[in-house]
Amino acid sequence: MDYQRLAALMFPQELKTPEEYEALFPVRNLPEGAKITRMAPSPTGFMHLGNLFGAIVDERLAHLSGGKFILRIEDTDLKRQVPGAVELITRVFGQYGLNIDEGVTSDGEIGEYGPYYQRQRAPIYQAFAKKLVLEGKAYPCFCTEQDLENMRNLQEQRHENPGYYGEYAVHRDMDVDTVEQLIKEGKPFVVRFRSTGDPDKTVTIDDQIKGKISVPENNQDFVLLKSDGIPTYHFAHVVDDHLMRTSVVVRGEEWLSTLNWHIQLFGALGFKMPKFAHTSHMMKVDGDKKRKLSKRKDPEASLDFYRTEGYPPESVKEYLMTVINSNFEDWRIANPTAPLETFPFSLKKMSVSGTLFDMDKFRDVSKNVIARMSAEEVYDRVVDWAQEFDQDLYNCLTRDPDYAKSILAIGRGGKKPRKDLALWSEVKDYLSFFYDELFNPDYTMPENVAKEDVARILADYGDIYNPEVDMTEWFNAICQYSGTIGFASSTKEYKQNPEQFRGSPGDTSMVLRVAVCGRQNSPDLFSCMQILGADKVKARLQEALNKLN
Ligand code: GLU
Repeated sequence: MDYQRLAALMFPQELKTPEEYEALFPVRNLPEGAKITRMAPSPTGFMHLGNLFGAIVDERLAHLSGGKFILRIEDTDLKRQVPGAVELITRVFGQYGLNIDEGVTSDGEIGEYGPYYQRQRAPIYQAFAKKLVLEGKAYPCFCTEQDLENMRNLQEQRHENPGYYGEYAVHRDMDVDTVEQLIKEGKPFVVRFRSTGDPDKTVTIDDQIKGKISVPENNQDFVLLKSDGIPTYHFAHVVDDHLMRTSVVVRGEEWLSTLNWHIQLFGALGFKMPKFAHTSHMMKVDGDKKRKLSKRKDPEASLDFYRTEGYPPESVKEYLMTVINSNFEDWRIANPTAPLETFPFSLKKMSVSGTLFDMDKFRDVSKNVIARMSAEEVYDRVVDWAQEFDQDLYNCLTRDPDYAKSILAIGRGGKKPRKDLALWSEVKDYLSFFYDELFNPDYTMPENVAKEDVARILADYGDIYNPEVDMTEWFNAICQYSGTIGFASSTKEYKQNPEQFRGSPGDTSMVLRVAVCGRQNSPDLFSCMQILGADKVKARLQEALNKLN
């Protein structure tokens, strides 16, 4: 077979040689052990939680080893592309602090191993496809969609494996004159790989997460270049990860089914294989079953969910770290304030079987993350979120920033910070009673306090409240007052003989809390009163009293 003539017919265009590309993108000069990783999303306009999971693994692997992290856009499939998708990807990278060293950024491409958009790399793939044709390892196939469908039907009837292989690889050995004729007629063709694999044999790789994986050899003549000269994922992956000098390919386990194609291609092209790390699917518990987190059914599968609900990116990242490495939680307990970047992440500690997304656990993690933030930080974040998603809240918060920050400072700092908030959309309800326009009281009083006592407390306390005193004195005053109305004057006294009293200082406080905050559950009442101020406290007592009567 005259492969020279065949290649010339298939690739009439001017192309660089593979050797020229090897020289253009030399092996990187990096210290021993430095890892080159890449995230390679398709611009579909949807960022899955699993995408972020992979990106964190990539970023950590690269940066903990002194290597490089690349963002490559896999835009070979025009049908799945949506406008603005690349902006979404770079925005997510910004929000989650995934700093890349090379690839696509919000202001263009950086790095020496580009272009980083696959469509712009078409001549590179063509050069390597031509090399395979010249070596008899690839060939043109002129089958139409209809031809392939007929083939599938026939295979189904015969109970044989689907695909283009063996006797079904009908254009494998087409003579060059026929090829020339068809090309002259303008017949479109794809470039197929000429597989020499034997499915009765297996190949084994050592996956960085899953350990040894054995797969049968591939015998399919799969497509390398589509009829428009744009590669399939398989060919692009092998060429790009070789030329970008990727050392660890982290990708979803859905690619295991075609791993044997990729192994074969690396071999046929004479490329050194990178290491592979196949990550498990994100799962969730649904009823009594576990299933894959679904883009269609589960809003939490989309990163946009976390943004609109107002979960800080730090919470999502922190939670994913607990999923990524089983020892992360112990590390966090030992290092409560350390930046996540100092955690000694390791591929060896990754879950092999499945990665479970647990919403309750995630909310807990988020509460901890938010509890560690300063009031200032929380304020800035909530304002940013509210500006986009809750105008009323935004107006309240920005009217008097110091007032808002003093509210957000309650119970913050110190050894045991309060953990009230898991996400920004909870802030409005949390602080609503500090703003008259948001105040929507529920005056349900503690059941064990008689209505007359409630009325009395509400009527009396206005004169007792002294905003000048500290918390101890403030509480002492409540205790003392309680003693004057037939309540115990200390919690201890009440506990010793509850039957002797109509209530306790705790009950008095609860009545006050319900009146002032409009709820039985609020942050520290002393601080709430301080922030509201004496006038507002008195007005609230009066309001509650009016409602009572
Ligand atoms: N574009 C592929 C995907 O989004 C990339 C897989 C890979 O990382 O190789 O699944």
